[in-house]
Amino acid sequence: MVCACEVAPLLPVAVERQNHGCNAAGSLRRPGFLRGAWSRRHTLVKAATPPHSVDVAVIGAGAAGLMAAGRMGQAGLRVVVFDHNDEPGRKILISGGGRCNFTHLDAAPRHYLSANPHFVKSALARYTPADFVRMVDRHHIAWHHKSPGQLFCDGSARQIVNMLMAECPAGQVTFQFGTRLTAVDHCEDRFCLATTAGAFEARSVVLATGGLSIPKLGASSFSYDVAKRFGHSLVPTRAGLVPFVLSGGPEADALRDLAGVSVPSRIKVAKETFSDALLFTHRGLSGPALLQASSYWTHGGILGIDLLPGGDALSFLTDGRRRRPRAALATVLSELLPQRLARFLTHEVEETETMANQPDRRLRGLAERIHRWQIVPAGTEGYAKAEVTCGGIDTRDLSSQNMGSRRVPGLFVIGEAVDVTGWLGGYNFQWAWSSAVAAAGGAVEHCRG
Ligand SMILES: Cc1cc2nc3c(=O)[nH]c(=O)nc-3n(C[C@H](O)[C@H](O)[C@H](O)COP(=O)(O)OP(=O)(O)OC[C@H]3O[C@@H](n4cnc5c(N)ncnc54)[C@H](O)[C@@H]3O)c2cc1C
Repeated sequence: MVCACEVAPLLPVAVERQNHGCNAAGSLRRPGFLRGAWSRRHTLVKAATPPHSVDVAVIGAGAAGLMAAGRMGQAGLRVVVFDHNDEPGRKILISGGGRCNFTHLDAAPRHYLSANPHFVKSALARYTPADFVRMVDRHHIAWHHKSPGQLFCDGSARQIVNMLMAECPAGQVTFQFGTRLTAVDHCEDRFCLATTAGAFEARSVVLATGGLSIPKLGASSFSYDVAKRFGHSLVPTRAGLVPFVLSGGPEADALRDLAGVSVPSRIKVAKETFSDALLFTHRGLSGPALLQASSYWTHGGILGIDLLPGGDALSFLTDGRRRRPRAALATVLSELLPQRLARFLTHEVEETETMANQPDRRLRGLAERIHRWQIVPAGTEGYAKAEVTCGGIDTRDLSSQNMGSRRVPGLFVIGEAVDVTGWLGGYNFQWAWSSAVAAAGGAVEHCRG
């Protein structure tokens, strides 16, 4: 890990509290962020110490920020990367259950939600999953497919962070960890940044602070706030790839007894359908199919749940009545579904009633519930448990070619901060890599132009 304070001494600064690269984040007693405080402070700073000058300031040392920094550094730009965490890539480290599902070979525009579904096309086409796999191979990181095209490290997600960091010293990239930014201004053709590590000037700024999910890992609205201040609009945000919670009531209480049960399922939400596992939890529903559905769900929306995708519950039950006339309905159904779920679905039927006594109407009703169970969740677990944030900085004022702002030359926005949200399965990291490479090209052009 490279820290700026080891590479080049930091300039002393006129802020109330300083913080050298690797220390824990400091905070200003009177935060001036977005209140023009930089200008006031800059005057002070300028008299004593000129700001540290770089070509590009990247804000956020996550997936997208690290990728962009490496590419720009290798192209010869002087880059500084800021992060308020004291280490890079904390979300990468916990991703994919610690093995980082770093891409999906099949990544295509249909796997992304955005108010402008065409926006992702250019970046994804110019830096593809195969390009990223080539980098992974160059760093001798072993990987495997979990499902076809969904790639994970054999070892640990830390290998991906190490790889991204290793790409940086090849260029002129320094890091300011544990650093808070208190102002970002654009003055003539330069950006002026006030930080707890001093004042910086950059010809270009790359906003890469991601979305709002998992605040305890350092998520913040920083990119949104800066973009808004520079005249960009936001597409309203909401938690995505997140478990559902169910409201109280007898059915929800009974469902809680199913916590831990997992079944294959097909989930319909809005106009989308996802086939994958459903997991019952203490608070509601989760599992890959439900996480996918959550990104398309809005409050009050209905989830259509098929607990036997591809099967025919009615034929099975009718046949079961013939095969096992003395057995209980729940017993026969548990040949098909986990026992606890079978009991839940048949709880209104007396256990002593045998299959022989089950009328067609009841079997039809049960089959209907198995294939077309409808639930209106009370909500989701929110940003605290969400893998991603849907919505974000509106793509209308961004170039799809290089992620550059149409409002402020030299400003770029990448990764999850943009109104682009991928499906579960490696698509979000692929967007981080592709948008970062696009922006790196844009920043190189801007700084050389
Ligand atoms: C539990 C979990 C598992 C996931 N697993 C996968 C997976 O396997 N595959 C996949 O494709 N996607 C996965 N994702 C989603 C993926 O992690 C994100 O989409 C991706 O990290 C977004 O990259 P980013 O660089 O835009 O943002 P991030 O990686 O979130 O990086 C943003 C960086 O900005 C920093 N930052 C934030 N605010 C500030 C500020 N004010 N000042 C300075 N720095 C700041 C943060 O500390 C962070 O380092 C997962 C997400 C979670 C939460």
